Order: sequence, then structure tokens, then C-alpha cells
Amino acid sequence: MSLAVSRVRVAIVGAGVAGLACARELAARGARVAVFEAGRAAGGRVATLPTAFGPFDHGAQYFTVQHHRFEAALAPLRSEGVVQCWNGRVIAFTGGRSTEKSMSAERWVGVPAMAALPRRLAAGLDVQFGVRIAALERRGGRWFVHDEARNERSASGFDVVGLALPSPGCAELLRGVSDLADRLAALVWEPCWAALLALARPSGIDFDGAFVNGDAALGWIARDDRKPLRPTVQGVAERWVLHAHPAWSRRHFVIGDDEAARWLADAFAARVGRALELRHATAHRWTVATARESLPQPCLWDARHRIGVAGDWFGPPRVEGAYLSGLALADAIAG
Ligand SMILES: Cc1cc2nc3c(=O)[nH]c(=O)nc-3n(C[C@H](O)[C@H](O)[C@H](O)COP(=O)(O)OP(=O)(O)OC[C@H]3O[C@@H](n4cnc5c(N)ncnc54)[C@H](O)[C@@H]3O)c2cc1C
Repeated sequence: MSLAVSRVRVAIVGAGVAGLACARELAARGARVAVFEAGRAAGGRVATLPTAFGPFDHGAQYFTVQHHRFEAALAPLRSEGVVQCWNGRVIAFTGGRSTEKSMSAERWVGVPAMAALPRRLAAGLDVQFGVRIAALERRGGRWFVHDEARNERSASGFDVVGLALPSPGCAELLRGVSDLADRLAALVWEPCWAALLALARPSGIDFDGAFVNGDAALGWIARDDRKPLRPTVQGVAERWVLHAHPAWSRRHFVIGDDEAARWLADAFAARVGRALELRHATAHRWTVATARESLPQPCLWDARHRIGVAGDWFGPPRVEGAYLSGLALADAIAG
């Protein structure tokens, strides 16, 4: 146990993968950690939308594992069956051609849904859901965090704060309390429309995932119900998740869910050259999906004010990148 953090009181804002990684590491080193999460579940962009037509992984589709620290964190989750390798057939469309991509990476998914991964990472932590942190205040050498109703979330405050949010949210909270705010202001984020389709009949499509290059609308296609241990739903033959390209998502930012679902379903049908019998189609807009550029360092740490920032926008914008950034912030906090 690191003496530098044992018994230190830490507030982590954001229970996405980065915030959970940071919180777990600090808790393991003896810190007293409270995590504040605006949503009703852990995971952020690693998410599963339950519907009457079955669950859809509408955010991160899978994750890859390269770094030994991420590998070590996942080892127990693999034994518990919380994550499994997804051996689906993955291809890439480029213009009218398709190439095999199944072997280009080892792809992992949460079981029975992507949301199982963050749920497990959050287990045993003090995570307060439905709490959006709206302001930070530095008083008497301590941090006080305020929710949207201006309530102080801890009367005695915190020694350290870690922000694990997309940069626009971090910049807002840091303004006036740390110079780190200036370093985040220039980062631009792209949205992503996700369409979720339940088909009434088998489509005959012979791939499970497809990267789509050069399409006006689509960037990614996945057969969601064929990932490991997904539930089947009566009357639903197949479930598909479609992700639009950032440029298309930006251009169609203000359209409604139904319209986005319809456009993307049409683009999907055109891409696979089949008529699809839709039982249900809806869409979800990720307003801040991916940072256009990443910062080169693994996290930011203001040692003077004892506040830091982590997230997937340090390095590759991926689940593994988010996890490693959270760990890097924990290392910085622990000194
Ligand atoms: C459509 C899409 C597809 C993707 N596909 C893949 C993929 O296939 N493989 C891959 O590896 N990665 C993928 N990613 C990227 C991956 O999801 C992210 O890199 C990763 O989940 C980011 O984690 P994070 O913890 O940095 O941020 P987030 O997941 O955004 O977590 C931030 C958390 O902070 C919370 N929050 C925000 N503001 C506040 C506040 N003021 N107070 C309290 N809580 C707050 C949010 O609710 C959220 O839970 C995809 C992302 C998207 C959007």
C-alpha cells in the first residue's frame, strides 16, 4: 500500500472506464474514494440500451487489449466470464469491395452485454449515481464538490479531485479553479449517431461486424445478437447496431431519432444489397463521441491544487486508452 494515498480522500467525477480505473487503483492503494456519476449506471460510452426487442450495445462495440496493466486488470474478469473474446466474422467495405478483418485484432466484449464490464469495474466502489457535479470549490486547502442543486456532496470535502469526463465537461469544471482548463479549451469533439435495428426475419448477411470506408453515412455495422451469450427475443430474428461517420453525424446533428434510424437503415440495406424487414428501429445520438485529436500525455495533473484529469482523449480514443489514462492519473495522485 502506498503511504502517499492511504486514507487520502479522493473525489472522482465520472464513472466511465477512465474514472473507474482510477478509483479502483486508488482504493486498492488505501485511499478513501467517492465516485460521482451523472448517469444511472456506470460505463459512460461503454453502454447497453435495454429495449423490448432486446439489448443493444450502442456505444463501444468491443475492446482490444495490448498493455500489460489492462491485461492484468481483465484477467479476473475473464475467469469470472464477465468478458469474452468475440470471434465474429469482421470485414471491411471499401467502395464495392470487402476484405477480411477477422484476424486483424483479438476483440473482447462484455458478457452478456458491454455494460457488464463497467458494472464489474464499479463493484465494491462507492459510486453515487444520478449526481451531476456542477461546480468545484477550493476552500481551506480542500476540495468541495457541488451537484446541480448546489448541494455540497461531502461536508468535510476532499484532498484530491480526479475528473474523468470528455474534455468539454472537464473544462467547465476547471474554469477558475485550475490552469489545466486552458489546456483543454481547444479540443474538438465529434458526435456519433447510432441506429439500433431489430429485424423480423433473418437477413442472410454473412458477417458479424464491418468497418465501412468511404460511405457517405455509415462507419460501422455490427450484428449485436451474435456476440457471446446475447439473449434472444421472440419475434426478433437479428439485432444490428449501425454507427454513422462523424461527418454525417455532425451534418445531421439536429435530426430526430426516427429520422436518423431510417436514414442509416436505408444506407445499411443499400450497402448489403438486401431489403431488410424491420421490426423496430431507433437511434441514439452520442453528442460527444470522439475527440478529433488526442493529447500526447497519459493524463493531466495539477500538483499544486491536487486536481487531475483522465479520459480516452489522452492517447487512442478507445476503452483501453481510457483505462490506462485512469491508471496514469491514479499513479500521479499517489505520487
Ligand atoms: C459510438 C461509439 C463507439 C465506440 N466504439 C468503440 C470500440 O468499438 N472500441 C473501443 O475500444 N472504444 C470504442 N469507443 C470509445 C470508448 O467508448 C471510449 O474510449 C471510452 O468508453 C471512454 O471512457 P471515459 O471514461 O474516458 O469516458 P466516458 O465513457 O465518456 O465516461 C465519462 C462519464 O462521466 C459522466 N459524467 C459526465 N459529466 C459528468 C458530471 N458533470 N458529473 C458526474 N458525471 C459526469 C458520464 O455520464 C460518463 O459516465 C466508442 C465510443 C463511441 C461513442
